[in-house]
Amino acid sequence: MKLPSQLFVDGAWHAAKSGRTTHLINPATEQPFAEVAAAGAEDVNAAVESAHRAWEGGWRDLAPGKRAEILFAIARLLRDYAEHLAEFEMLQIGKPISDARDEVLLGARVFEYYAGAVGKFCGQTIPVARGGLDYTLRQSMGVVAAIVPWNFPFPIAAWKAAPALAAGNCVVLKPASLSPLTALALGQIAHAAGLPPGVLQVLSGPGAAVGDALVTHPLIRKVSFTGSTEIGRRIMELAARDIKRVSLELGGKSPNIVFADADWQRAAESSPMSVFANTGQDCCARSRMFVERSVYAAFVEKFVAATQKLIVGDPTKAETQLGPMVSASQRASVEEYLADARKQGSTFATGGGRPHSKGFYLEPTVLLDVGKNDRCWREEIFGPVVAITPFDDEAEMLREVNASPYGLSGSIWTNNLSRALRVSRTVQSGVLSVNSHSSVHVEAPFGGFKASGLGRDLGMAAMEGYSEVKNVYVAE
Ligand code: NAD
Ligand code: MN
Repeated sequence: MKLPSQLFVDGAWHAAKSGRTTHLINPATEQPFAEVAAAGAEDVNAAVESAHRAWEGGWRDLAPGKRAEILFAIARLLRDYAEHLAEFEMLQIGKPISDARDEVLLGARVFEYYAGAVGKFCGQTIPVARGGLDYTLRQSMGVVAAIVPWNFPFPIAAWKAAPALAAGNCVVLKPASLSPLTALALGQIAHAAGLPPGVLQVLSGPGAAVGDALVTHPLIRKVSFTGSTEIGRRIMELAARDIKRVSLELGGKSPNIVFADADWQRAAESSPMSVFANTGQDCCARSRMFVERSVYAAFVEKFVAATQKLIVGDPTKAETQLGPMVSASQRASVEEYLADARKQGSTFATGGGRPHSKGFYLEPTVLLDVGKNDRCWREEIFGPVVAITPFDDEAEMLREVNASPYGLSGSIWTNNLSRALRVSRTVQSGVLSVNSHSSVHVEAPFGGFKASGLGRDLGMAAMEGYSEVKNVYVAE
């Protein structure tokens, strides 16, 4: 499969109507390696209108079995092309190749899950009056805009497109400017697997132009967005004009809470990757650690040792755990946080510098003595930086956990069952794991509380979010 370079619309490749393109830079080498069409508002109009025709013209009314068959075929072809897709992902964002492979297979698995869900997605019959029949229908909405970020480009594109298509919608997918390749490839692969033209349109292009045009287009019925809280807020405001449905998966500042009664050695060994994986560019990154004081010093020592063992480097090598950051500007933004930490007098237990002279690399960095009002404690850094603090009292620690405006993910380490239940009930967060760092399961709902978002991806919850409920009463 060749590197995609154009928009995928109506089952074929097209240049942007303006003729504009953007260059992609490999973050590991700092070299430009591809040129991709940059769509504008005029491309959005054409793509949305034709997606709407594809919806009315057949996709919405296709027999569930047929729709499922096509989604299964997409999953099969994604597996066939997994190596190509993984390489595209690695080239465009510097993701280590083994992570890229896993994520492509996760995306294929998402298509399989929703292929299987098509015929199991049902309404209800409801007893409302004697004799008559009351039933609900789960109906498709029309054209859904899926706007996705650059940190997990392929899996997030899949976990929006697959349930939306399974529920009978057509989709216009907009990848982030830094990471268009795997989304564009998905468009072509889905078409090759039998998805009719127009049902999945893929427009690469700048968020300000393409994103705004999509969100305000009258034929878009729902906007499913993953990205920053700032842009999410803007999308919700724009969507309010037409009461468009929105689902928003936004930023996070997730806690990792370690009690002294836990297997804290295991927690210390596994926790670095819960924040540094994907070079910290992860909405679920456990970037605030709370460790019970009696084990704090020993925990920090083990955590720092495990961090120093992480392999940071060439994403083409199978053993690499952390690649470069996505761009020079993303690294610069993280380095501003580190400068603030220095100014505030935080301790750098390890990291803080650039490990390689070429590529947008940054060392995994462990901060201690970070003040509760410091930027590094309060804000999403979106880079390989963790702040660790000791705590004495459970209730007081939980107040600090919940003082964050975010509530996406988090981990709780304890072997006390009552405590695990109590703390997981209290933490204000959409996703939690006990004695583990998992956040994402295809079968389970994923999303945030508070400023971390609205609505849920994955599981059957996502499919509900891509449908309208209609209630019908029929008198006897
Ligand atoms: P971003 O908000 O800058 O961009 C996300 C997408 O929105 C991109 O496709 C971008 O082009 C587009 N966009 C930009 N301006 C727009 C506008 N005015 N209208 C419509 N679309 C617009 O986010 P990012 O930098 O790509 O990703 C990092 C952020 O994403 C972090 O805050 C991270 O926490 C968040 N994120 C959240 C989740 C989650 O599931 N909660 C998952 C991954 C990333
Ligand atoms: Mn951004």
